[in-house]
Amino acid sequence: MITLGIETSCDETGIALYADDAGLIAHRLHSQVATHARYGGVVPELASRDHIRRVLPLIRDCLSEAGLTTEAIGGIAYTRGPGLAGALLVGSAIAESLGWALDCPVLGVHHMEAHLLAPMLEPDPPAFPFLALLVSGGHTLLVQVAGIGRYRILGESLDDAAGEAFDKTAKLLGLPYPGGPQLEALAREGEAGSLRFPRPMTDRPGLDFSFSGLKTAVLNSVREGPDDDARRAAVARAFQDAVVDTFAIKVRRALRSTGVRHLVIAGGVGANQALRHGLESVAAAEGAAVACPRLAFCTDNGAMIAYAGHCRLMAGERDAPGIDVRPRWPLDELLPPGDA
Ligand code: ATP
Ligand code: MG
Ligand code: FE
Repeated sequence: MITLGIETSCDETGIALYADDAGLIAHRLHSQVATHARYGGVVPELASRDHIRRVLPLIRDCLSEAGLTTEAIGGIAYTRGPGLAGALLVGSAIAESLGWALDCPVLGVHHMEAHLLAPMLEPDPPAFPFLALLVSGGHTLLVQVAGIGRYRILGESLDDAAGEAFDKTAKLLGLPYPGGPQLEALAREGEAGSLRFPRPMTDRPGLDFSFSGLKTAVLNSVREGPDDDARRAAVARAFQDAVVDTFAIKVRRALRSTGVRHLVIAGGVGANQALRHGLESVAAAEGAAVACPRLAFCTDNGAMIAYAGHCRLMAGERDAPGIDVRPRWPLDELLPPGDA
């Protein structure tokens, strides 16, 4: 069977085709960064309208890349949530309509399950059970994964998500939206140790996170000045070092307390090289193997939706007809494929 994946939860339109035998056979992405950049953040109404314009042309591109027609599509997976309601509704409406027109099953997929399964698309996929650090624009989750749909949340952010902290810090430093990758580039210019920010919540037991205090520390440091390039780079470096250290401490703790020996790093912030290196050294010291998606599949994409949906559609899962989204949807409500 070939599954069509449709991702429209935020500011990327992602489309992909995943086949049983050949795996990922086509994927396309349209990023709305240029649309939202001048507003300094995602404007939900503009996001929805742009998804409407992009989805069908990207599906056509994927089909022609794979040398297929719509007849080849055996199932459709779309992002049901979490995400922006209007943006999700576009994906849901198109998936439902196509499923009706092509007479094939449709399934709404959990966006964070798709992020955490993204490394399954790589040549050396992680083995279950694994520990997943999910760090994205809207989420910071440490999850014990026994199998698909078997998730135990060990820790999460009590305030800002990791990506949000990167984006807000970048904004404070005058970097354009979306700030995460720009902040990483600026941090490369900064000297290690010239400034130091707190490692939030690492001095007490547990696996939860908090990033809003770190943001305040950055704000105070920026106000103290001086307002020059060297100082901005030092702030970026000290912020990133604090985040990486915080995750390293909590991941080490989680590996030790669970005894799990595989670590997955996924979500947009997982593209950060300093974070990957920091966690690779922790894992190596603990005798754990690390798996990450390729850089393009850390941030939002259609391939991860096609894959997650394919696994569940193959187990016989499908939705009753109707447009249905879940802008808020706890990950641990999910069940293993076919159990729903
Ligand atoms: P969610 O998945 O929680 O719904 P989202 O889909 O908006 O949120 P992603 O697309 O997974 O999030 O990731 C986007 C986030 O990742 C942004 O906050 C962005 O700044 C951050 N990010 C991307 N690349 C990097 C990087 N190299 N370093 C740090 N942060 C990064
Ligand atoms: Mg995005
Ligand atoms: Fe995402």
